[in-house]
Amino acid sequence: MPLVVGKDDASKNLPLIVELVDSGLIPVNKDDLGACSKKLAMPLEQLAPAHPSNFGNRDASDAWGRPLKNSPELIVLHETVISGPQTVAFFQANHPEDEHQASYHLLIDRDGSRLRIVPDEKRAYGAGMSAFGDFTQRTKPTSVGSINNIALHVSLVSPPDGRDDRDGHSGYTDAQYKTLAGQVLLWQASFGIPMTRVTTHAAVDRSHSRYDPRSFRWNRFDMHYRAAVAACGFSQFDNQQAGL
Ligand SMILES: [Zn+2]
Repeated sequence: MPLVVGKDDASKNLPLIVELVDSGLIPVNKDDLGACSKKLAMPLEQLAPAHPSNFGNRDASDAWGRPLKNSPELIVLHETVISGPQTVAFFQANHPEDEHQASYHLLIDRDGSRLRIVPDEKRAYGAGMSAFGDFTQRTKPTSVGSINNIALHVSLVSPPDGRDDRDGHSGYTDAQYKTLAGQVLLWQASFGIPMTRVTTHAAVDRSHSRYDPRSFRWNRFDMHYRAAVAACGFSQFDNQQAGL
């Protein structure tokens, strides 16, 4: 349940600030994270940095100067639709206009390799018009709410038969699911994020135009996630059944 703070603001015609409750999960220290990454044989991150126009800072206050949480609390899954090289080229192009700015933190290619697009500490533009339940943040007076300020965005490169807007395609490789499961666990452990806050673009989109990742199968993810938890021992982040 989201926590509502600043109720008095309603009388001033300002939108309520809604924050996610404290999960109570303590982030894992860097040494243990490094050991986990080794046990999982995570592919090294290849650098493919986005042009600075396509990402920004995680904002510490909203459009009205009220303090906002701005550290990662949500993990959002996507697919690219276009090919990996086309995706990277798009993110590396200068996009001065708001509506063309876009990015993810990480891209996972068909062979399971990881491409780093935006550093975790920065705000990637992965889900412009979005909400997670009641949670959304408005960082410009004219903007619609978005979850980007507290999100980590990761995208799977779509298969060649997915380069269109059909409802589904042939899906993702086992290597992609394996890397994704390891990445999700490492992010959860780095920032104290429970499994209940691992979601999809389709689930958080409020523009009614995004429905990715198509043909994603949670059971294929879960198989690798359970193996990763067994290897690293971070079972406290998998609260899918129990909630917070
Ligand atoms: Zn998306």
